[in-house]
Amino acid sequence: MRIVLVGPPGAGKGTQAAYLAKNLAIPHVSTGDLFRANISQGTPLGVKAKSYMDAGNLVPDEVTIGMAEDRISQPDAEGGFLLDGFPRNLKQAEALDGYLKDKGITLDAVLDLEVPEDEVVKRIAGRRICRSDSSHVFHVEYKKPAREGVCDVCGGELYQRDDDREDTVRKRLEVYHTETEPIIDYYKAQDLVVTIPALGEVEEVTRRAMAALGRDE
Ligand code: ADP
Ligand code: AMP
Repeated sequence: MRIVLVGPPGAGKGTQAAYLAKNLAIPHVSTGDLFRANISQGTPLGVKAKSYMDAGNLVPDEVTIGMAEDRISQPDAEGGFLLDGFPRNLKQAEALDGYLKDKGITLDAVLDLEVPEDEVVKRIAGRRICRSDSSHVFHVEYKKPAREGVCDVCGGELYQRDDDREDTVRKRLEVYHTETEPIIDYYKAQDLVVTIPALGEVEEVTRRAMAALGRDE
């Protein structure tokens, strides 16, 4: 299956993607995680992306679209993929459509995770991620690691993302409303959007998403 996850920062896209990708046996492709891996490796792409990310802005399309397309061109994504955080504006959505069309493939669904803004703010404020792999995500209240400050998955150090601080979060939410939300209508016109109420236990949200995909667990 080829799936796009959308929703505001903190909606739980990465958290759900980890479970959905496992259940559906497809790779989880997060452009945010790809940028963070480039930053920690000190690559030129990472150096370029960092200033935009720290300011809560989108990284320019010229950089982002190529990186996302490279990733979904890898052999492990041949049978499908779960995109998390891409596309994030209309230009990226159109570029993805062009890429898929060239390959003669289509998206199966766009899952829109719906969470009230006050909950998103609480989720982001308590989010802690692993320094070794930013797809390992915890929360100080909702998903506590067994040992404080230590990743349950790999033992890495947990920390708060620089862009999860309050002033940057406000900017990121604004960018979501102005730049990313329009892609929901774009995909509605293609009849691909399924809205998933994303309040409640992580497992319950996963069940809703799997049911929406016609894959009851
Ligand atoms: P996104 O990828 O959309 O930015 P994350 O998956 O990183 O969001 O989730 C943001 C924070 O909220 C994380 O700390 C995560 O542990 C927590 N979280 C995710 N889903 C839920 C949920 N259903 N209930 C409570 N907390 C959640
Ligand atoms: P995320 O991990 O999805 O919350 O993304 C963190 C940051 O990475 C965003 O605030 C952007 O600065 C950048 N980013 C991630 N995905 C994209 C994208 N598709 N387009 C532009 N910037 C992105």
